[in-house]
This record gives sequence, structure tokens and C-alpha cells, in this order.
Amino acid sequence: MNIKPFLIGGEWVQGTGTPFDSVNPANGELNGRIGGASAADVDHAVRNAQRAQRDPRWRNMLPHERARLLNRVADLIVERGSELASIQMRENGKLRSECLAQAGAAAGAFRYFAGVIETMVSEIAPSRGPHVANVVYEPFGVVAAITPWNSPLTLEAQKVAAAVAAGNAVVLKPSEITPGPALELGRIFLDAGVPAGILNVVTGLGGETGLALVQHPEVRMISFTGGTATGRAIGRIAAERLVPVALELGGKSPHIVFADADLDAAAEGVVSGIFTSSGQSCIAGSRLFIERSIYDDFLARVVERTKALKVGPPDADGSQVAPLSSFVHRERVEAYVQSARDDGGTIVAGGKRPDDAALPAGAFYEPTIITGLTNEAKACREEIFGPVLCVLPFDGEADLVEQANGTSFGLGCGIWTESYKKAWRVARAIEAGTVWVNTYKELTVAVPFGGFKDSGIGREKGYYGIRVYQEPKTILWGMK
Ligand code: NAD
Repeated sequence: MNIKPFLIGGEWVQGTGTPFDSVNPANGELNGRIGGASAADVDHAVRNAQRAQRDPRWRNMLPHERARLLNRVADLIVERGSELASIQMRENGKLRSECLAQAGAAAGAFRYFAGVIETMVSEIAPSRGPHVANVVYEPFGVVAAITPWNSPLTLEAQKVAAAVAAGNAVVLKPSEITPGPALELGRIFLDAGVPAGILNVVTGLGGETGLALVQHPEVRMISFTGGTATGRAIGRIAAERLVPVALELGGKSPHIVFADADLDAAAEGVVSGIFTSSGQSCIAGSRLFIERSIYDDFLARVVERTKALKVGPPDADGSQVAPLSSFVHRERVEAYVQSARDDGGTIVAGGKRPDDAALPAGAFYEPTIITGLTNEAKACREEIFGPVLCVLPFDGEADLVEQANGTSFGLGCGIWTESYKKAWRVARAIEAGTVWVNTYKELTVAVPFGGFKDSGIGREKGYYGIRVYQEPKTILWGMK
């Protein structure tokens, strides 16, 4: 079988590392065999990136010229959006509609950071002597970008767009579950006329290709999105090497419903907040806190809506919950649900594989709701990253804030209430990078995104998101 090559310095190369299979989780079929980048291949990629980044044609390219290239990349993403969506869908099983939306968001990220570099200005600081002090922002050089499988189209675009806009070259290592979108982005860069070597894509296993990349002495900045354990391991390496690192990690986000909320709107928000992407979203609202006086009523609304969700193939009309990203991942999710049973939890929806004989042999799992656990139970503490919602009652704001913050994570939070004062108080008290009030999971490239506590370090996106990929440099001009 042919092994799919990856991209170094504008050339498609067959790796010398461990190849791996890409499998469609919706039906178990093989998508293809993908080349693995060895440490030697990674070295080759980093050297190419460094050469391209230091080339005066790139280094001296004016911001509006770089912006033009990024806009061209965005145009090609739009043109090939349907194909990009299909590639991602075949690899991680996400609903086609979600994949299409993510392709649109990927193009948006390139346009946004094109706008940022065209409009951002450098600073002149107030003078404290006979000099002019100005601050300019330099690229690091070679940035390593490492990404997970759940939303590669958008996550890779937002890293690459900001890092390249800032003037860096990037070596991108996508997840071994979803190598395709990154390889296509590499092709788009070449077709858009971005100089070869500015974006290199190395596919391979985390412990081989990813590790070689973060350890490479010429990688000057690491941008990682993935699990907290991997992020911690990468953070240790970065600390030893003294390179900056941006870490976007896991979550166990509280979704809070007060008695005075619009309960129908809240129920919609809670159900889509956990079950879109089959719960495989870092910001999934996976712990539902219901004010005790409405507990039974609101839970019934959520359970009813959840049971009505249609589990089905990602490209079938009417599907609302697609399969999990892999068969191994489904087993992980099942183990968590079993742990909840062992801890005395009650399954009030789902809790098993669907028994619909019409479904193909994919990694499907029913949307699941668990009650009767404490906040300390394993299923409430750890990120399941699947379609599993744990429900807990609360009594008043103080109890709510203590329970909601009683987690090692701090990525997202949803609050449903008609009282703007209460929403403000709770939003300020919750330890999370993003708080949604009377909405959930809305995302925009125009605001910073990231986590408190074990959910990460640093913020991506937003106007100043470009600074993640730049070093400030002060230049003092003597005026005596
Ligand atoms: P993961 O940590 O297993 O893998 C992420 C990436 O790291 C992959 O490309 C993998 O190959 C690579 N990797 C693994 N070990 C490595 C090592 N030792 N050195 C270097 N690279 C290595 O995560 P995953 O299972 O792919 O993704 C799911 C996780 O991602 C969840 O925890 C989810 O919350 C998180 N996530 C976070 C955000 C966010 O923005 N905060 C967004 C999406 C996903």
C-alpha cells in the first residue's frame, strides 16, 4: 500500500519513522497509511524552516505583503472547503456540518491575522531621559505547532495563521488520528505562493515525531493543544530548554442553571454544549449544576432533549451525534461510565452503544447523562472527552462557586440566569478562561482563548494573540 508523504521545504517526502494507519471511525474502513517522521526527518524539517525564515525575502517582507499571502491562503481554504471538511470527517468522524463550519473558521483565522499585521503598530514608550525608547516585535524563528484530533481544521489554522503572520516559519505536527487537514494546509500554502519551508508538516506518532520536535534545539517556541498530561510533559522539556510555550489543554467545564433562567433556552444550550462533536470538545460543558429548586424539572427537560438526539453517520441527513473519533477512544469513554456506575451514579440517559442495527460498524456511543455522583467522583473530576454529562444540584451562589471551581481545570463555564447582577458576580468568581452567559460554546477568533489552572498557559486568538509568537525588542535612540 502507498504511504502518504509529508511536507518539508516544499517537497513531499517519504519519512523514515514509524508509519501509521488512518481509520474512518464511522465505519472502521482504512483511509490510508501515513508516513511517520523520524528524528532525522524532524531535523530536516526544522533546518528547512529555519533557512526559509531567515531568507531576506521572508524576513524583509512587509506586513501588508505577508497579509496578501495569508488572504490567498484563506481564499484557497474557502475554495477547497468541502474537500477539507470531507478529509476531517473521514478521519475524526465529526458531523459534516461541523467540519464545513470549521473550514470556514479556518479561512477566517487567516483573514483575521492578515488584518492584525496590517493594522498593528509598534510602541514608543514615555521617555525618562534623553532618548527615544521604542518597542518592536520580532518573530521567534522556528515555531513548533502540535495539535490534537478533535478540531484540526480550526486549531491548526489559528496557530499557523498567527505564527506566520508574526513572521515565523512553522513545523506543524498534527495528531496521528487526523493527519489529513494539516497536509492539505501545507499544499494550500504552496499553491498560494507562500515560500517553501515557511510551513512544514511532519506526520507521525507523538512519542516519536512530536517528542523529536519539541526537543529540537532550533525550535524557539512551542505552541501545543492537547491533553493536560502531554502538555505538562512538553512544558517540562520547554522549561529545561528555556523556550516559551503556549499550552491549550483539557477541560471539565461547569454549565450552571439558576432557577430564574429561561429554562427552555438553557436546556438547548446545555444539550448542545455537551453533545455537539459527541462531547469531544475541550470546552464541552460536562458538569451540569442545577439550582436545587428546579433540579427535577430542569433535569427532565435535558433528559427529554437528549433522548431525542439522533445518533448517526457524520454525513447522513438528520444525524446529530456522530461517532467517537476512534474505537479505542470509545473504550475509554465506556470505562469512565463504568467508573460512574461503580461510584453509585445513576444513568438517566444513554450509557451504552446504540442498538440500532441500521448503523454502520462505527465507534458510536449514546449521549449519556449521569446523576447521583459527588463532585469528587472520577467521572466528575477527569476529562472524559466524550458524550457524557454529569449532573449535580447546588444551593445558592456560594455553594455553586465552590463546587464549580472544585476542579483542577479552568477552561470554560456557562451561566444561565435572567439576573445580570448574579451573572456578573458568578462570571467573575469562576476560574475559567471563557465564560458564556445565556449562550454557550460561541467562539470567535477576535477574543483571547485559553485556560486557567490545568487547562493551560497563555492565550491564543484575539488582536494580541499574535504576540504569543513574537518577542518584544526595545530599541533606544540617543538624543543628546
Ligand atoms: P494528546 O495530548 O494525546 O495529543 C495531542 C498531540 O500531541 C498529538 O499530535 C500527539 O501526537 C502529540 N503528542 C503526544 N505525546 C507527545 C509527546 N510526548 N511529545 C510531543 N507531542 C506529543 O491529545 P489528543 O487526545 O489528541 O486531544 C484531546 C485533548 O486535547 C483533550 O484533552 C482536549 O481537551 C484537548 N484540547 C484542548 C483544546 C484547547 O484549546 N484548550 C482544544 C482541543 C483539544
